[in-house]
Amino acid sequence: MSEATLHPPTRLLFGPGPTMVEPRVTEALGKPIVGPLDPYFFEVADRTRELLRLVFGTRNETTLVVPGTGSSGMETAVANFVEPDSKFAVFANGYFCDRLSEMGTRQGARLVRFEKPWGEVFGYEEAAEFVRREKPSVVAFVHAETSTGALQDVRAITKAAREVDALVIADTVTSLGALPVSVDEAGIDIAYSCSQKGLSGPPGLSPFTASPRAMDRLRARKTPLHQWYLDLKLLSDYYDGRKYHHTVSTPLFYALHESLRLIQEEGLQNRFDRHLRNHLALVRGLEAMGLEMHVAAGHRIPNVNTPRVPEGVDDARVRKHLLEKHGIEIAGGFGPLAGKIFRIGLMGPLANESSVSQFLDAFRDALRT
Ligand code: PLP
Repeated sequence: MSEATLHPPTRLLFGPGPTMVEPRVTEALGKPIVGPLDPYFFEVADRTRELLRLVFGTRNETTLVVPGTGSSGMETAVANFVEPDSKFAVFANGYFCDRLSEMGTRQGARLVRFEKPWGEVFGYEEAAEFVRREKPSVVAFVHAETSTGALQDVRAITKAAREVDALVIADTVTSLGALPVSVDEAGIDIAYSCSQKGLSGPPGLSPFTASPRAMDRLRARKTPLHQWYLDLKLLSDYYDGRKYHHTVSTPLFYALHESLRLIQEEGLQNRFDRHLRNHLALVRGLEAMGLEMHVAAGHRIPNVNTPRVPEGVDDARVRKHLLEKHGIEIAGGFGPLAGKIFRIGLMGPLANESSVSQFLDAFRDALRT
């Protein structure tokens, strides 16, 4: 008996990711598959890596694509740079900071955490005091904490970390492509991201970059790496030395390449401005409806908005109504913010004026039900 062809619904993805993708990106997925050692693939890979250097704001030679979603980039960062028994400091103010912590513990590191309530961020003075006291080998933080809507000032962390010569891992899963990451200027040593948020492609790949300082540290590593698949040296040997490592997903690579080309065509600054402008319009609209934002002004992620659930409103019912009546996906909060916030993404193709007003109309309707 043959199964029916799939007909997935076309949702309007106003959640914290994945985002909508442009038709050019979808078309790229259907292009002919080539093998992982095909010279054509390496041409695509080289161009993709160059475009990634542009969005990361880096000249790092080690800028490549890790197979898997954002968590795969996270695990590559932690597994390669956090050695067993070394001190690993995490700035913990949300769910993905907890995931970083968990990965550090699984690597056998001595984990220390600077904790803040979900939705708050870290200032330079307090960050410096923490790292001076703890003297970690590596620190990690989440640039745009998708679980809370808070945007961390990168330089507050990198400046503090430099004082004790610690490497800095930055999670740029939500920020890359939607707002400036500026890896080199800000002094980030290792950054990873995903293909399905600020870059607005399909999920499945994790852009990654590591500074020469970080790579020197990796070469001097005292303990062997337990991971094989996410061994950064092996991955570099594949991209630079053309030595087979794994069977890359060429369709996902074509799609990533196309989404990066779209970003380049729009211009990075134009794209950042567009996200910021529409974020401000959305916040104005939400506040006009009487909602309060969870994160203080000035510390909000432009592409993930987190209004508080108003008193007496059942957030699951609102989300269900949006999905069933308007075909709109948004997300709720989790952990300490479960039932307390909505998470509304405004990224890539949906970061525009008409989508903002379409969303606000539907949301107003959903809140009334
Ligand atoms: N880090 C952050 C900040 C995220 O928002 C996410 C996913 O939402 C991840 C890491 C994990 O990425 P993925 O779900 O692509 O594995």
